[in-house]
Amino acid sequence: YPIDRIRNFCIVAHVDHGKSTLADRMLQLTELVDPRKMRAQYLDKMDIERERGITIKAQAARLPYKPLGDVGDEYLLNLIDTPGHVDFSYEVSRALNACEGAVLLVDAAQGMEAQTIANLYLALEADLEIIPVMNKIDLPAARPEEIAREIAAIIGGEPEDVLRISAKTGEGVREVMDAIVDRVPAPTGDPEAPTRALIFDSFYDAYRGTLVYFRVVDGRLEPGHKIRLLATNFEGEIDDLAVNSPEETPIDALGVGEVGVLSAAIKNVAEAKVGDTITLAGKKCRDVAPLPGYREPLPMVFSGLYPIDSDDFPLLRDALDKLRLNDASFSYEPETSAALGFGFRCGFLGLLHLEIVIERIDREFDIPLVTTAPSVRYRVTLERLDPETGEPIVLEVSNPQDLPEPNQIAAIAEPTVRVMILTPSSYVGPVMQLCEGRRGNMEAMDYLTEERVELRYQLPLASIITDFFDQLKSITRGYASLDYEPSGYQESNLVRVDVLLNAEPVDAFSSIVHRDEAYPFGKAMVEKLKELIPRQMFDVPVQAAIGSKVIARETIKARRKDVLAKCYGGDVSRKRKLLEKQKEGKKKMKNVGSVEIPQEAFVSALRTG
Ligand code: GDP
Ligand code: MG
Repeated sequence: YPIDRIRNFCIVAHVDHGKSTLADRMLQLTELVDPRKMRAQYLDKMDIERERGITIKAQAARLPYKPLGDVGDEYLLNLIDTPGHVDFSYEVSRALNACEGAVLLVDAAQGMEAQTIANLYLALEADLEIIPVMNKIDLPAARPEEIAREIAAIIGGEPEDVLRISAKTGEGVREVMDAIVDRVPAPTGDPEAPTRALIFDSFYDAYRGTLVYFRVVDGRLEPGHKIRLLATNFEGEIDDLAVNSPEETPIDALGVGEVGVLSAAIKNVAEAKVGDTITLAGKKCRDVAPLPGYREPLPMVFSGLYPIDSDDFPLLRDALDKLRLNDASFSYEPETSAALGFGFRCGFLGLLHLEIVIERIDREFDIPLVTTAPSVRYRVTLERLDPETGEPIVLEVSNPQDLPEPNQIAAIAEPTVRVMILTPSSYVGPVMQLCEGRRGNMEAMDYLTEERVELRYQLPLASIITDFFDQLKSITRGYASLDYEPSGYQESNLVRVDVLLNAEPVDAFSSIVHRDEAYPFGKAMVEKLKELIPRQMFDVPVQAAIGSKVIARETIKARRKDVLAKCYGGDVSRKRKLLEKQKEGKKKMKNVGSVEIPQEAFVSALRTG
């Protein structure tokens, strides 16, 4: 295709506002998909994505399109479908950088959500042409006038400029495609310059190795070309070069502005990272500059993963190795816990990412797990100086167990986030209360319209990885939405709260919390454990402590009856059966010092919210 006929665009939308449905309608309009093969959410490939209605991986589809009544050649529209979730905002920003335009899709009944606005800002940063579209105008609950005003207030322009469509019925979809043709600029790039292509996603395929999705910025790519990836220095030869239209179709070359997928015997997705630049291995490309914006993935949330059955440890390692082939953005390293045995400390981009990985371990590998409460990565400055530099030693601690003794610590800093919350104005009070109760500092409050308020807070990341989102939803009856971005570290008065059973600390229950929250946290924890741990042969004190100072205490009273007491003198086989039963029950117990804790107690006590 000639460059001036190419339009690269994405759809920015909140979950459920109809992105996949609109993509389906666009595919149908291009008549590329056999109507008999058409299925809902054609582009969402992974099972988890279909079931949860989220896009985790970016997708691309090539849509040849001819506006009605247009006498010229057809246009090539490339739809790049991006993940919409806050955990993946770096991936979103790379996919946006592969486009020149964005369709801002808003549900006519729901209005703008925080996530949409956050992604809209990313799109504006990437200098994209924004086409505002209101979807679901067929719904009786639609409030088109009000929502159009809201959209115009945020992006500028007039409410009348907002296109009104129903992706469900197809009404207005052609107008959206025409607007893309008219208003989204054609790509710019130099066909003669050394080849540069932006990787906006990569997948692992068991047969072909890593499949790399890219957009050509300068030059061209052909099958057989020797390529080099700048960030990882991977070199290899292109085996397959293809486009998705929407099924993968081989192609003999891709030039400036075009979007495609290649394989080059890349064994691991970590070798073809999102945001990296593809160039050619020859002399001509030796000094080529990387495309801007590349970043290493940065885990934000950490959790210990332990197999419930310790024999599953090697299986868990295998599972993590396999998942990692596919997802270079989570990290793991072995760790041991006196209470839970051998496991892994894993780092994730965010809570949804953590859930997805755990769900995949369960679904694809069937390994029952205990996961410890999510934590963040602290920066701990020690009193001790580094003998070489003379500077204080700084440690990164993501497992509460690794926190040094209080007397060795000069300061602890914790990661913070800038949070954006959109809420109906009637709930502003409770939302402010929630944020302030979580150590938040307000940065701004704006009325987008009379009914909708945007609140901005600076909050510790640790405050939002527990049940913040659930609380927010419950106090606003589901109407508020949330988005956040990392905003550096701040010093805080943090302490480790340990939990002791029968005077012995149980490492898996330790947590790092703010000093002001330590007492309520400790109290809640011992109360929960008192309920969860069955009575033993003796009284068991349950304590929460900071260092050697006990801050909360409960006692699990000794149990009175012996299982065998009631069959004293009874028949022997019944007695044996009972003993066997007791033994089986024991298997699911973990011995922590002298106390038996059922596995279930760990699972429940560590569950947050
Ligand atoms: P996504 O999460 O943004 O990809 O949203 P989907 O395309 O999966 O749509 C979410 C839900 O809204 C689905 O049940 C769709 O059938 C429905 N939906 C999408 N577009 C429309 C529309 O124009 N009108 C109505 N009434 N429902 C729609
Ligand atoms: Mg979808």
